[in-house]
Amino acid sequence: MPALFLGHGNPMHALLDNAYTRAWQDLGRRLPRPTAILVISAHWQLPVGAVTAMPQPRTIHDFGGFPRALYAVQYPCPGDPSLARRVASLFGPASLELDHSWGLDHGAWSLLRHLYPEATVPVIQLAMEAHAPAAVHYQRGQQLAALRDEGVLILGSGNIVHNLELARWEKDPQPEDWAQRFDGWVREQISGSRDSALLDPGMAGPDGALSVPTPEHYWPLLYVLGSRRATDRVTFPVEGIDMGSISMTGVMLESA
Ligand code: ZN
Repeated sequence: MPALFLGHGNPMHALLDNAYTRAWQDLGRRLPRPTAILVISAHWQLPVGAVTAMPQPRTIHDFGGFPRALYAVQYPCPGDPSLARRVASLFGPASLELDHSWGLDHGAWSLLRHLYPEATVPVIQLAMEAHAPAAVHYQRGQQLAALRDEGVLILGSGNIVHNLELARWEKDPQPEDWAQRFDGWVREQISGSRDSALLDPGMAGPDGALSVPTPEHYWPLLYVLGSRRATDRVTFPVEGIDMGSISMTGVMLESA
């Protein structure tokens, strides 16, 4: 199974029809049908690792100030408690809690409703350990890699460049130069298999500090890269910088 990182950006993409949402829909048609989906979302961090283990995850509307229609969105897919236990076994004893209270946050469902609109593929979410260094998030991806052989789609949902403070809400603003440079730098490292450089966005200088002011939207990329095989082919199936400072770049790893 391929592994996929997608930039989710503005929650409104859940309802919109644009180049990003059409690219996500196209991916859903092109990908082999997964047995289940494991989502690592920027919007779920906990002091200790956890994975959702309920049979029917709820749809969480974890944002404020958006139109009522966005709060009405439901993504009624099943969960997969046995896959949750499998993930716990991959992570080793005592390092992962089985969670029965979370569900699907908008990092998951705003993409999934475009990728798999029928909501029939089971989905679980993995929480990121809030205080863990980047290398641990990458290592978690390595531990998850075996799931790809079991038909599970590993889906990282964040944004390579995510600076909300500098985001502009007018229609189609010019992408910031630093955002384009950092997005390009990250793609170069991925294409050149220099994953270790990607553990520290500061390696890209001031562009990295502007693009990753907080790490939570960047970390999901590290899980996907951690699951990489030496033989994987890399493509970037979604491109673009939204709102001037939010990269919508997607990264797909596929066995050649
Ligand atoms: Zn987000």
